[in-house]
Amino acid sequence: MTTTSHILGYPRIGDRRQTKFALEKYWKGKQDKAETLAQIEAVFTTNIQDQIDAGLDVITTGDFAHYDLVLTLATALGVVPPRFAGAETLDTFDRQFYFARGRDNTGKFADTAAWQMTKWFDTNYHYLVPELAKDQDFANTDFSQIIKQVNDAKAILDKNGVNKPLKVVLVGPVSFLYLATSENDDKTAHLDKLIPAYSQLLATLGELGVEYAQLDEPILSLDLDGTWQQAFERAYSTLQRIPPKIIVASYFDTLGNNINTACNLPVAGIHIDITRAKSPKQYAQQVIDQLPTHKILSIGVVDGRSVWTTDQAAAAEILGESYAKLGERLWVGSGSSLLHLPVDVSLENVPAALVGKLAFAKQKLSEVVTCAKLATGEIQADTNAVALNLTAPTSAAKARDGEFVERYAAQQDKLNLPLFPTTTIGSFPQTIEIRKARSQWNKGELSDADYENAMKAEIRRSVDEQEKLGLDVFVHGEAERTDMVEYFAKYMEGFWVSANGWVQSYGTRCVRPPIVVGDISRPTAMTVEWINYAQSLTNKPMKGMLTGPVTILNWSFAPSDTATRDILRLQIAEAINQEVGDLQDAGVAIIQIDEPAFREGLPLKTADQLHYWQQAVNAFKHSCSIAHKTTQIHTHMCYSSFHDCLAHISAMDADVITIETARSGLQLLDAFKGDGYHNAIGPGVYDIHSPRTPSSENMQVVIDEAVKYIPAERLWVNPDCGLKTRNWEETVAALANMIEMTKKVRQQYA
Ligand code: GLN
Ligand code: ZN
Repeated sequence: MTTTSHILGYPRIGDRRQTKFALEKYWKGKQDKAETLAQIEAVFTTNIQDQIDAGLDVITTGDFAHYDLVLTLATALGVVPPRFAGAETLDTFDRQFYFARGRDNTGKFADTAAWQMTKWFDTNYHYLVPELAKDQDFANTDFSQIIKQVNDAKAILDKNGVNKPLKVVLVGPVSFLYLATSENDDKTAHLDKLIPAYSQLLATLGELGVEYAQLDEPILSLDLDGTWQQAFERAYSTLQRIPPKIIVASYFDTLGNNINTACNLPVAGIHIDITRAKSPKQYAQQVIDQLPTHKILSIGVVDGRSVWTTDQAAAAEILGESYAKLGERLWVGSGSSLLHLPVDVSLENVPAALVGKLAFAKQKLSEVVTCAKLATGEIQADTNAVALNLTAPTSAAKARDGEFVERYAAQQDKLNLPLFPTTTIGSFPQTIEIRKARSQWNKGELSDADYENAMKAEIRRSVDEQEKLGLDVFVHGEAERTDMVEYFAKYMEGFWVSANGWVQSYGTRCVRPPIVVGDISRPTAMTVEWINYAQSLTNKPMKGMLTGPVTILNWSFAPSDTATRDILRLQIAEAINQEVGDLQDAGVAIIQIDEPAFREGLPLKTADQLHYWQQAVNAFKHSCSIAHKTTQIHTHMCYSSFHDCLAHISAMDADVITIETARSGLQLLDAFKGDGYHNAIGPGVYDIHSPRTPSSENMQVVIDEAVKYIPAERLWVNPDCGLKTRNWEETVAALANMIEMTKKVRQQYA
């Protein structure tokens, strides 16, 4: 008797980001489809080969999306929103990019608004939100991309002379609907037409000899109401029941109140992620007790979001007990897909203290196989948890003195800004010259002094442009930062930044999250010199520019347990607080502390959320607690929903918050209508993602709307995010319109 080892999914960007580079060349017209596909398929082949080589019992495929898994499925199901009419004549490869980018690579269709992107649960991965019509049918299906993966995987298995069952990953029907937007108020009404399409897809897979289908239903980790729980029963009882056997996968948290629903679905088995459970052992036990005795239970013990090696001793204990009860019905897997990890730690120059302690996606494959052997007792555990030994005492979070009204008046006395002060969010175009200088500097081809001079030249250019435009509050432009979190992590003690540890964030965009390796502190000032230099060039106030503790932690690899995260967040807050103090001492009067990921770490279960908000708010407040009354603290966020968290955003008590409004069609401002927010706001007056120059009339719509709810004296004028992805020409044109609009509204609302 034995167990079955498998994973839930694997990164598709490739160990050297091959997929990213291939697709970007294709989009730019620099290579044709055949060449592009050949490069991408090489990554696919490696993904299957890695699983075979690691010795996994079931080989997983179908997860190799070219952009996003939800998008792949929606495209396969024939979803074509009306503004993309005719797009069904494109093959699914080109069609999905048209949906995702709003731009058709074949040149057949005009540009239009891309599908919305939303964060995938509490990760920094973004999925594409399918748009369903009221009576959406799923008749025009095209499963060719999924079928191709199956056939290619089979060919690779054959070539290796191995005979292992295949498992295909699909987003499950209920989560698919939950995550989509629909013109139908009752999204579950789509099940009647959706389920036959899924059945057809499953039947096709069955005919191809696919043994298992992993239907991802991550919404099972949310607190679902009765309607959605019933939707599960309805969906799965009508789903076809000939091969492949269905494994319903939950991950990122426990099943919570959905445990009954999940255990009793008429499927072959379920997958649970115990890596995020408060007590993994009890959680596994609880599911085993409730699961009907013929079903498979896949236990995810290898954390799909942790870069650390697995605690074998703990895994052995839980799996051993589970195996005693489940026998062959026990499967051993990764908690979630390994998509959220960098690919291969063996490509890194790991510092001595970390050798043997890190495991990226490729290493996790072997860990899963090891854990399956620990379950049966075939081998004995030989590692324990890699503990972060946090020794630095964390003092209680502090907050700054004074009430907003009093502070803002004192700041105004000092700054003397006009009505509707104009500013930008921080970054200016990251030009080719900047990137070239940095890459030469990294390679040692440019001296520190020359690099510094190159960055200073960029700062001068930014200041000049702002001077010419006539902005009121300046920024230095962030030329010296590639990724802001990485920039600060490199300065702080307690982080390690890998050379090649890229993770897909959306489409071809990858990020390289720093890894927390110990107590976090700030040995030296991180930004003061750049800001001082920028301030020396102008009489206008220069904003200090920092990233907040909540965002730095959320965009790093750190332990997932709440207690450790609470400590780390405060340590980062203390480091930022020291930087605020130094900037203030250097005479900087306005300091922005960005928190674009403030909401991202929100736990999936409602019961855990209040604690998170309190900790996040306290950490932010601590990060600026050193600020004098006259030092104006700004923050910036760029996600699109404040409706359910305005009280917490208010509690941060930043003097000014700049937010994204243009793209979300003013809905965002809605949240500020009531009596919930008393401090100053800069609603983004134009969408920096748009390649077209926004007109000043369009920008004025935002201000005209905002003054209805927010007193003019508390309003700022700014774009909705940083400008680093734009070029200078676009930037200057758009900002000139913004200044022109501001002059008008100053007269109008004086
Ligand atoms: N200050 C940062 C910038 O302008 C903010 C980035 C962000 O919101 N993600 O680039
Ligand atoms: Zn932003």
